[in-house]
Amino acid sequence: MPWRDELLSRHARRKNDSHWRQRSTIESPQGSQVVVGGKPLLNFCSNDYLGLAHHPKLIAASVAAAENRGTGAGASHLVCGHSDLHHQLEIELADFVGAEKAIVFSTGYMANLAIPQTFLGRGDLILEDRLNHASLIDAGRYCEASMKRYPHLNSLAVEKLLIESNAPRKLVATDGVFSMDGDIAQVGSLQTLCEKHNAMLLVDDAHGFGVLGDSGAGTLSAHDIGVGGNVLMMGTLGKAAGSFGAFVAGDAIFIESLVQFARPYIYTTALPPSAIAVTRAAIDLIQTEPQRREKLNQNIELFHELIAACPELASQTMKSPTPIHPLLIGSSTAALQASQLLKQHGIWVTAIRPPTVPARTARLRITLSAAHESKDIKRLVDVLASDSMKAIVAQSSKVQHNSTDSSSQASS
Ligand code: PMP
Repeated sequence: MPWRDELLSRHARRKNDSHWRQRSTIESPQGSQVVVGGKPLLNFCSNDYLGLAHHPKLIAASVAAAENRGTGAGASHLVCGHSDLHHQLEIELADFVGAEKAIVFSTGYMANLAIPQTFLGRGDLILEDRLNHASLIDAGRYCEASMKRYPHLNSLAVEKLLIESNAPRKLVATDGVFSMDGDIAQVGSLQTLCEKHNAMLLVDDAHGFGVLGDSGAGTLSAHDIGVGGNVLMMGTLGKAAGSFGAFVAGDAIFIESLVQFARPYIYTTALPPSAIAVTRAAIDLIQTEPQRREKLNQNIELFHELIAACPELASQTMKSPTPIHPLLIGSSTAALQASQLLKQHGIWVTAIRPPTVPARTARLRITLSAAHESKDIKRLVDVLASDSMKAIVAQSSKVQHNSTDSSSQASS
């Protein structure tokens, strides 16, 4: 059957390019230590930045909500799945990020898809940073507006595109913290540009929410930019909040429009009561217990110090003020070898390869958490600085320099 042959040849190509994906099954709760295939591993690749995904208060909230409210929401929000728990969480989220209103979505992917679909139509324009997350890129692809991607963090290019466009409605969409690079969008200059050129700004703060800003309200709060007016914020709840789901916050008129018109909101089942209860408990801890953010920042500083002592590593590692630290390797084969070497030493860092990142920029995406101890980070850097790891990185850069490969296309 030609269909099968075609799939088989796609699989073969993916394997041949060292881009084949495999799902490791974890057999323990999420945390800085996990068990995979019966083996304990020190985990440096989760987005559980504050170590909340296994917090006793969140577990208790989940159990209590399941006991009191059952396990499923039973329907979508506009039928009979929208509970007082959802309603209360939306009020708390709006209050936390300083917006008029918020709306809870079942996933961040769906929240991102919903925004351009709801607010833009044919003839409108959406501008996206070239390194935006795949869900924002898909949101641009699957809406009726035309999408243009600008070079990473290049506000001048954004302004030029805004000036050139005579689209009636324009939306600039950016990650707050870039998911694979760990750097931060210039949200201040983007907001000013959007205001000047009558555009909306959407900040996807999946990796900043809970982590950045004095109270953990995210990238916009850390830059003293309010959520509202021409600014919409999307935050996810499955990362620093240790839960599941997402939200969009902004002025009431935009949030009410999502309730009315956003297909990814309307035509899906509401989150179960337990997920909502967990998020509410997490929001409380994020706001009232800043010590987790402080510990995370100490861990980030320690990682920077240790990496700086090893020049070969420092030159390949992007120095990020966030929990995300990519060690750039280049070739996908070498990135897999590097990940394997770490695993042999009991450390888990997944190799991130195209098409998740641009061609020839395969990397180890190292993520730090408040749950890591200093000795964990030292153990990680010891293996990264080992001669075996240096040999893999050096060999990869030699191959890269001689390579003419241009097969892969960045999609996130
Ligand atoms: N945006 C960014 C920047 C992300 O990293 C992710 C998830 N990796 C999402 C959106 C999607 O969020 P969710 O997992 O809730 O669908």
